Amino acid sequence: MTNKTHLVLGALNGDDIGHEIVPASVEVASAAAKLHGLNIDWRPMPVGRRALDTHGSTLPEGTLETLQKMDGFVLGPIGHRDYPKGPGAINPHPIMRKHFNLFANVRPTRSYPDIGCLYDNVDLIIVRENNEGFQPDRNMLLGIGEFRPTDEITLSVRVITRAASEKVARVALELARSRRKLLTLVHKNTVFKLGCGMFVEECHKAAKDYPDVTVNEVIVDTMAMRLVRDPHNFDVVVTTNMFGDILSDEAAGLVGGLGMAPGLCIGEGDFAMAQATHGSAPDIAGSGRANPYAMIESTRMLLDWLGRRKNIPQAVAAAKSMYLATGEALGNAAARTGDIRGSGNTASFTAAIIKALK
Ligand code: ATP
Repeated sequence: MTNKTHLVLGALNGDDIGHEIVPASVEVASAAAKLHGLNIDWRPMPVGRRALDTHGSTLPEGTLETLQKMDGFVLGPIGHRDYPKGPGAINPHPIMRKHFNLFANVRPTRSYPDIGCLYDNVDLIIVRENNEGFQPDRNMLLGIGEFRPTDEITLSVRVITRAASEKVARVALELARSRRKLLTLVHKNTVFKLGCGMFVEECHKAAKDYPDVTVNEVIVDTMAMRLVRDPHNFDVVVTTNMFGDILSDEAAGLVGGLGMAPGLCIGEGDFAMAQATHGSAPDIAGSGRANPYAMIESTRMLLDWLGRRKNIPQAVAAAKSMYLATGEALGNAAARTGDIRGSGNTASFTAAIIKALK
């Protein structure tokens, strides 16, 4: 599949602003790739609401099998809450995360000057377990982990396994090792003695192989407060699925909001999915106001990760160019979008990034 300078990547727009920010990401990544002699063969594929209209399913048959043959893919935000009720209208992204065993969701938070960040110099990464926990649409093989025995009772099942806890811990430990060597385990084992207890136990076991990484623990409610008060005290944070979902949106709030919240879903192999943390923002879709940063940065993370995993220096170099160019364009108030104190739009911000590529 891959030779030294070639990547095959799926481009799946998703819904609403996905139709604006995924093409923007493809444009930026393609320009960076060209500069560094990397050939990206983009394969656009339908998913989400438009796929329901054209193919009768939000996840058309054969999509997973086709993606499997590629090196990875970019998935735009999914607006599943607005899907009409019906057999073909499913939320595709939990299925994708599960199918490709993308058990770790790596979500960085970085501040930039003048865009409305609450603090300067924030640089942390939340690693969220992706496939179990309280998420009922993915924590069961069959059926869903939420049920209602009578009209008065609802039960939600939370799944924690030793294997997934260890695997996500190792991703976080590797990241911490490559950064400031500090890992914070976030949990609530004071109450969830067995579930969070198992998660914490497995994290500590894995950490024995990383004596160079300092590991500490913070209870999730305290973490919600400390993220706001002293985000500089965190380097890499690892936590279970739902806590990670909530904390990563909170972290985005520190640095300009959801438009600044990228993510990369990874597993054990060398296949990954770029997926921004935010939703499909139907309120601003089609208006040109969507901030493409999160999606572009997610795509950049995909190139960097694939480049390192598959030993493609051109991909790593293209990712570095994207990083520098994005930083420069974020300094351009006339180009960047309104959510981050700019007077530009999706197109002007994207163009500014491409212009800054070196
Ligand atoms: P989900 O639960 O699917 O993650 P959500 O309920 O968090 O979705 P979003 O669609 O992420 O909702 O949007 C929340 C708010 O943030 C909306 O007002 C939206 O306009 C804004 N927003 C989200 N993403 C962006 C973006 N890339 N650029 C600008 N604004 C955004």
